[in-house]
Amino acid sequence: MTSSISSSYLDLDGAMGEGGGQVLRTALALAVCTGQSFHIIKIRAARKKPGLQQQHLTAVRAATKISQAQVEGANLGSTELTFRPGEVRPGNYQFAMSTAGSTTLVLQTILYPLLLASGPSQLTLEGGTHNPLAPPVDFITQTFLPILNQLGPQVSAQLTRYGFYPKGGGQLTVDLVPTAHFKPLVLMERGKLVARQAKAIVAGIPDHVAHRELQRVADKLKWPAECLVPDILPAVQGPGNVLLLQLRYEHVTEIFTSFGERRLPAESVADKAIQRLQQYLAAEVPVGEYLADQLLIPLALAGKGEFLTVAPSTHTLTNIEVIKTFLPVPITVTKGPEKGWIIKI
Ligand code: AMP
Repeated sequence: MTSSISSSYLDLDGAMGEGGGQVLRTALALAVCTGQSFHIIKIRAARKKPGLQQQHLTAVRAATKISQAQVEGANLGSTELTFRPGEVRPGNYQFAMSTAGSTTLVLQTILYPLLLASGPSQLTLEGGTHNPLAPPVDFITQTFLPILNQLGPQVSAQLTRYGFYPKGGGQLTVDLVPTAHFKPLVLMERGKLVARQAKAIVAGIPDHVAHRELQRVADKLKWPAECLVPDILPAVQGPGNVLLLQLRYEHVTEIFTSFGERRLPAESVADKAIQRLQQYLAAEVPVGEYLADQLLIPLALAGKGEFLTVAPSTHTLTNIEVIKTFLPVPITVTKGPEKGWIIKI
């Protein structure tokens, strides 16, 4: 494969930093946005099953399709890939995974190129919608998109069918209206608390699991009954269980998630999400760990912006390194004068 690689390709090492799928997803997104080709080796070297798994392969294929790219190495398990993007064509696209590969991570990959394209697009993404280690659709619709839309584009997403790990079978549709350029964002305060909600979703497992999770939230966080929402889905959409704790402030909404697992009592599932929420409350910053790494690309494309967040994860630091290889933007991470960390572009 290396014989066809010219010096105009950026060289990336997939083992850098956190060594996961984000290196590849960010590279694909920015390659298509900038027209810069790249060659990556050691894809997902730090993961248990390295190389392209179905979700990453779907992301590669989606990026290839929307930009009429030339690609080598796009096979299951491949640890090396060359990608040469062409022109982005907005339009109607459907990308489906037969497993619970994350639809939201495929979206992360093709969102920005389509938002800088010459016209609107509609996406239908099929696979997992609520996966551990990926943004649940609720995080995309409630936390991420309201902020992204402040930067200029108009994106709306609808969950049309749930897809839980490992079965998948979910569906997410997304409407995108591009912007000529991304506006800068400054997000240094949460503002006042506007609403709280605990949603316990069960599909194909007993209803009492949802009720016990919500009871634990009521006991530990002292949230009143009107904040507690059981969502009992048809069994055919399962098996699956997820607890989503949402805090809506004037300037930001954060969601803390935990997934039901075999042999893990409902109370322990709830405790995990509660602990994440309590850590965020104690940090007194607007931007939580996950939103931080997801805001980097749009702010880098804007060329300016800053936000106050928790101590940066290796995921965030790795994403910054990949972004810097494609875009000539300085990104600084410094300790805040009173609390948290400031990420500034
Ligand atoms: P990777 O581990 O490289 O596949 O990337 C995972 C991506 O999913 C990152 O962008 C994370 O911010 C995001 N993510 C993982 N878990 C959550 C969660 N519970 N809520 C929101 N985003 C998440």
